[in-house]
Amino acid sequence: MRIIKCDILVVGGGGAALRAAIAAKEYNKDLKVMIATKGKLGKSGVTATACSDRMAFHATLEHTEPGGPDSWRYHADDIYRIGGMVSDYNLAEVLAQKAKDAFEYLDGLGVPFVKKNGLPDQFVTDGSEYARACYTGPYTAVHIEEALMRRFEEMNIGVLDFCMVAKLVKKHERVIGAIALDTREMDFEKAVIPISAGAVILAAGGGGMIYEHNVFPAGMTGDGYALAYEAGAELVNMEFIQMGIASTKTKFNCSGSMMRAVPRLINDSGEEFLKKYFPEGTSCEEICNTLFKKGASWPVSYEHKTHIIDIALYKEMKAGRRIFLDYSKNPEGFRFDMLSEENRLRYRREQNRDLGAQKRNESPLCRLMEINEPSVRWFSDRGIDLTKGELIEVAACAQHFQGGVKIDEHARTTVHGLWAVGETAGGQHGANRPGGNALLDCQVFGRIAGEDAAREVLQKGNNMNDIAGLIEDDAIKLVQMLNSADDGEVSAEKMRKQMQRIVESGAGVVRTGEGLQKALQELQKLKIKRHFVDEHGPAYFMENKNMLMVAQMVMEAALMRDESRGPHLRFARYEDNTPMERRDPEWGKYIVIYKNGGDMILEKRKPQTPK
Ligand SMILES: Cc1cc2nc3c(=O)[nH]c(=O)nc-3n(C[C@H](O)[C@H](O)[C@H](O)COP(=O)(O)OP(=O)(O)OC[C@H]3O[C@@H](n4cnc5c(N)ncnc54)[C@H](O)[C@@H]3O)c2cc1C
Repeated sequence: MRIIKCDILVVGGGGAALRAAIAAKEYNKDLKVMIATKGKLGKSGVTATACSDRMAFHATLEHTEPGGPDSWRYHADDIYRIGGMVSDYNLAEVLAQKAKDAFEYLDGLGVPFVKKNGLPDQFVTDGSEYARACYTGPYTAVHIEEALMRRFEEMNIGVLDFCMVAKLVKKHERVIGAIALDTREMDFEKAVIPISAGAVILAAGGGGMIYEHNVFPAGMTGDGYALAYEAGAELVNMEFIQMGIASTKTKFNCSGSMMRAVPRLINDSGEEFLKKYFPEGTSCEEICNTLFKKGASWPVSYEHKTHIIDIALYKEMKAGRRIFLDYSKNPEGFRFDMLSEENRLRYRREQNRDLGAQKRNESPLCRLMEINEPSVRWFSDRGIDLTKGELIEVAACAQHFQGGVKIDEHARTTVHGLWAVGETAGGQHGANRPGGNALLDCQVFGRIAGEDAAREVLQKGNNMNDIAGLIEDDAIKLVQMLNSADDGEVSAEKMRKQMQRIVESGAGVVRTGEGLQKALQELQKLKIKRHFVDEHGPAYFMENKNMLMVAQMVMEAALMRDESRGPHLRFARYEDNTPMERRDPEWGKYIVIYKNGGDMILEKRKPQTPK
């Protein structure tokens, strides 16, 4: 069996992985650094494909509000306080302090950040107090990936495309390599790729595919979480998953101006259902102002009362109805002057066309044309013509995992030889994640991990002589496991669909103790049935195993947290439309998950607090 040997193996190919690999190689050009990624490098994962109204990269720069040498402290405070005080404050400090360097590095690589008077333009995102979001437009993440790829290609870094890391190999409690699978190969033995490494950096992104509705690209199955868990690492904050209203056909987040145009939210019977979920007697004025405000608080959050819209949408869908945004007609009773002065001012700031008061009053489409005409074209290019009255089908979709593999300030996990970065990592964000900090986090901790792993491999040496046997053994065990799966009862594809439905039902927008318990039982039954490798091949089969594990972590943690915080809306009864209260200080703690023997252990712990 041929074993691929390297000093540092980076698992993933998004913004965090590229930054980590580049940093390791920049630290010492003689190190053998290798990237293994499931898809085609530079074209797969969230960073390489995501798009929204205006994608944000948060950074506190010299001119950033509120100004002064200490302004990074406000940034750290936002991450921690607005995050719900369940993240590690020291990690928030690292993020805020190193944001300027991260921005300058990307700027130097040619990311086309929008500038005004020579300075990066910055705006306020969901959940932040100050304008820190740098951007290039709807494709900020793609531009970051492209710039990193240009730098990457100048360096001598190995690439294994279409290569899914399926297992980490350990010796004496240290990770010494991995077993990967060629995602295009059906023959189990031929698919297996053993890799030895002095250090492994997990940058495998999030796990949005565990939900039926999500805006993640294919392949984002939470492998990094499962790999780390199986290797004995701790995970944290797994119940906090960012969700919001997005188009099911295009995966476009309907945030910002899409909501500030105040569309009708209707079900497949054409009913404007929102009023059923607001307290009885709520005026049309209040409902429309809440819809407008949803534009600036896209993710579901206990701390934003606009969550009532997500609750309504989720419950309608759970009752079997499809949901649409309709821009052709005003919500019943709507008049533009019903919007509060604050909201009208916000509208005016966004307006780049003036169609006149009559048109502005006429329809959400006219308003969208005034504040974001490109979005009308964007949908039309993708087969949804709003000018012809076509509807946008929407759902509450998973977009980001705020938690993940618990890291320290060096991006080290609790297992030797293993680092985690980007969306795979956890502890740096709390329950809410102020928009823009995920892309930042990939760059800051990506660099830290690359350099730290390089430093350690150089100090420790990378003796690969006596480990080949161990790695071969693990590769053989993986093939045996795949072979033995042929007595499973359900195909991998069917199993995946059932699992996604279970997770969405138990751990979607509305979570109850009873619903979570039922979902966990159903998940357990599904696990017992076992699945077999179908026409999607062995990598897809292994993804399912990972997803089952991640689904359990998310739901067990959600069950344990019997309060509401951030996107975790917990209800005493499903019929309630008001979530249970947030409970501080009792629940100002995070839930740490780890494996002990065959058991999944959950522990409530106090995070690092500000000094
Ligand atoms: C629609 C959308 C809009 C967003 N908007 C913003 C925003 O405005 N601001 C912000 O800060 N954040 C935003 N986010 C979040 C942010 O984009 C992501 O958190 C970030 O890009 C994740 O980067 P990453 O490198 O960690 O993972 P990814 O870019 O997802 O890369 C993960 C990589 O790992 C690979 N991989 C996975 N499993 C394996 C395996 N087992 N073996 C090998 N390779 C594997 C994948 O193929 C992929 O290449 C948004 C996300 C979405 C979906």
